[in-house]
Amino acid sequence: MTKKHLPSLKKWPYKWYGFWPPELLDENGNFDIEYYRNENWQCPNKDQIIKYLKSCNAVAGQASNIKCPECDIMLPRASYSYDNVWLWPDQLAHEVEAHNIVLPDNFVEHITKNNFTPPSRILHRNHEWPWPDSSKNA
Ligand SMILES: [Zn+2]
Repeated sequence: MTKKHLPSLKKWPYKWYGFWPPELLDENGNFDIEYYRNENWQCPNKDQIIKYLKSCNAVAGQASNIKCPECDIMLPRASYSYDNVWLWPDQLAHEVEAHNIVLPDNFVEHITKNNFTPPSRILHRNHEWPWPDSSKNA
């Protein structure tokens, strides 16, 4: 099995994070989540970052839940948040908080610059958000 070269968290090239489109999967359709996990991650203001991830404006794709694959907690299915720059699935906060998933440096910097305060309103429509297939060259 060949291992894909995954984007570095030091310089994440996209404006989305936390879901893994085909270009990041290996030839068997698997994604190496371990690459993005680090239980020793030293993130300043991690609690505030997680709170930010949880409190941004969300759009729900489906009004149903799925079980976290790693624990038994129920998470929203196909539900995403957007802060006028970055896009992420709503289970990301749980993955960071409970499963040691590391955020890209530039995502953390962005949230810090926002003073851990979500935007009061969303300026773009859903189809203008940086979905993976539209942001390959971002
Ligand atoms: Zn979990």
